[in-house]
Amino acid sequence: GQTIGIIGGGQLGRMMALSAREAGFKIAVLDPTMDSPCGQVADIQIVAPYDDEAALEELAEISDVITFEFENIDYEGLKRLTEIAYVPQGAEIIRITQNRVTEKEAIVNAGCPVAPYIVCESYEELVEKIDQIGFPSIVKTARFGYDGKGQQKLLSKEDLPLAKNLFDHSQCIVEGFIPFEKEISVIIQRNGNGETYCLPVGENVHINHILHETIVPARISTETKQLAEEAARKIAEHLQLIGTLAVEMFVLNDGQIIINELAPRPHNSGHYSIEACNISQFAQHIRAVAGWPLREPKLHSPVVMVNVLGQHVAPLSNSITKYPHWSIHLYGKKEAKVNRKMGHVTILTDSIEETLIEIEASGIWSE
Ligand code: ATP
Ligand code: MG
Ligand code: MG
Repeated sequence: GQTIGIIGGGQLGRMMALSAREAGFKIAVLDPTMDSPCGQVADIQIVAPYDDEAALEELAEISDVITFEFENIDYEGLKRLTEIAYVPQGAEIIRITQNRVTEKEAIVNAGCPVAPYIVCESYEELVEKIDQIGFPSIVKTARFGYDGKGQQKLLSKEDLPLAKNLFDHSQCIVEGFIPFEKEISVIIQRNGNGETYCLPVGENVHINHILHETIVPARISTETKQLAEEAARKIAEHLQLIGTLAVEMFVLNDGQIIINELAPRPHNSGHYSIEACNISQFAQHIRAVAGWPLREPKLHSPVVMVNVLGQHVAPLSNSITKYPHWSIHLYGKKEAKVNRKMGHVTILTDSIEETLIEIEASGIWSE
């Protein structure tokens, strides 16, 4: 049988591995930590840093095809890997999306709208140029931010010093604050033959900058849905996507969209597809990188996905018997730290509104 190598052993790698396993592949994973969520379900674990030359060579040796589950892997290492192994997604998409500056440029070059923004190399430059963006605005480190880490909202000039330490490790972008009506995401997947499909658009609710719920179908107009899918297609085309790209967007009051950011991999907001669609984002990703024809995604049922963070694990396990219709996913992480993504719950429903009330009333997510 064929072996799929996965760089990164988190929950996304785990769910990729479970899908690949079903399709008959063997799994090798490269992750710096022993017993990672993906390592637990893989056939072969290579425990080493992502840029470890010998480890990458070992992965190349045993894998027929290599994919990745997150974007903060070493670009140079990945590029070398493309020369000695089959990495259908290439390294370029990682270079572009691991830095907000090149990512925004790519979105603009694809012909899609972004929030007004400037690039600042230093705190002094921020102070000097902030009037070009004004207030409210958000400063974001160009690299390594996630779940709202590496960001500072600025309401006025008085807030500027709060952004000072963001420049310690990285240049930053400063963007205008968008008074959005809601947030949505489109997960788009493409294989080497150019076959391209979007998963149904998800509506995302964040709490403390961390994804809390994804509601599908998103409660948006047909026009907005079309705009969202068109934008995702333009960006995928521009990047010559192979594999999976998640496109996060803001929806404005008038139904127009603005692209927030990209992720070149399966995305938390697509987990609903495991139960709610004829093909999950993970199974489709494996088909795409394996060079198989893609399936046209179909939504079987409206659905709500809720994230289970560290603080939700105990209340969830205490209530599990009350909710037999919930699909529970836990990622096998040992330490239930506050705000750490430990799992998710998927609820197929005839009534989104009633399910949102049920989630709220369960009390599990009140912390
Ligand atoms: P992720 O975990 O999705 O990778 P991240 O840390 O990379 O998050 P963003 O997605 O850029 O950060 O921002 C996190 C959240 O902050 C957004 O989902 C949105 O709710 C809010 N936000 C970010 N940028 C803006 C903006 N320009 N205007 C208004 N809200 C914003
Ligand atoms: Mg991000
Ligand atoms: Mg985001």
